[in-house]
Amino acid sequence: MIMNVFYKKIPKVMIPFLKSGHRAMIIAFVLIVLALIAGAWYTGNQFSAISDDVGDLSQRLTVLEIILASTTADLKENITRTRDSLSDALNQEKQNSATIAQRLGNYQQQVSTVSGTVETLQKLSKTDPQLLQKYSKVFFLNEYYAPARLVEIPTDYSYSDSKTLKLQTDIWLHLKQMLDDAKDAGITMYVFSAYRSFNEQSTLKKDYEIIYGAGSANSFSADQGYSEHQLGTTVDLITTGLGGILDGFDKTKAYTWLLSNAYQYGFVISYPKDNAFYVFEPWHWRFVGVKLATDLHNQNKIFYDLDQRKIDEYLVNFFE
Ligand SMILES: [Zn+2]
Repeated sequence: MIMNVFYKKIPKVMIPFLKSGHRAMIIAFVLIVLALIAGAWYTGNQFSAISDDVGDLSQRLTVLEIILASTTADLKENITRTRDSLSDALNQEKQNSATIAQRLGNYQQQVSTVSGTVETLQKLSKTDPQLLQKYSKVFFLNEYYAPARLVEIPTDYSYSDSKTLKLQTDIWLHLKQMLDDAKDAGITMYVFSAYRSFNEQSTLKKDYEIIYGAGSANSFSADQGYSEHQLGTTVDLITTGLGGILDGFDKTKAYTWLLSNAYQYGFVISYPKDNAFYVFEPWHWRFVGVKLATDLHNQNKIFYDLDQRKIDEYLVNFFE
């Protein structure tokens, strides 16, 4: 019945085929067509699903891109912030280091100032203030004063063969250098008188008084030069050609040489010609330290012209 209906709808040209028994072929053909339609439908569905998936993926990708862009921006911001704060910290650290270095510098300077002061005080504590004291007829060393360290002057440098002459140890080294250099310059000098104790000085003065009378003795001997010899820093110098007496020393080459050079060894003439303090004693040289002697020489001044407070500033450099 069905087949009959089917036949009726088929064009007449097809009937011979049907009639010739190709039904199986037709059925197969129909089945293939159906299979193709089903396949197409299925593929279409699949394609549509894939397409949906791709769309979905594309959307997700867009979202991911947005998230990535946002995360990257955050990250960049974080990095910038971190870098800035590190830079700030570094700058702060640098500033701290600079402050610490400055403080250290200040401390070092303070320590150096303090140690300089300590050194100065040590020097001063070891330097007898009497060594740069001005003496006069009313102010002189007391009879108990004696220099700290005395050394005997070798006989080669002493004018007397019998008398032992002494001087403060450090000052003798300066004097020896001066006498050696003078000798190299063709000038021979000897130490005529050096350290004299209070008693020796008293005896000497009494001798002068006995010979010349008290008034006369005071005018050229003891009182003022007295204390300087008791210090152990002062010498009377003599040179050849004077017959063993000090008078006339100011006419010698030795005196001229001393006026030009003695300051370099720390010696000054205490009572130069025409001074206001005491009679002229060209042979009488006192050690006051190289610095003070040099300043006096350069300023054309004499020791007794200076104020005692000014002189005391040189105590710290006395033995240099
Ligand atoms: Zn003298």
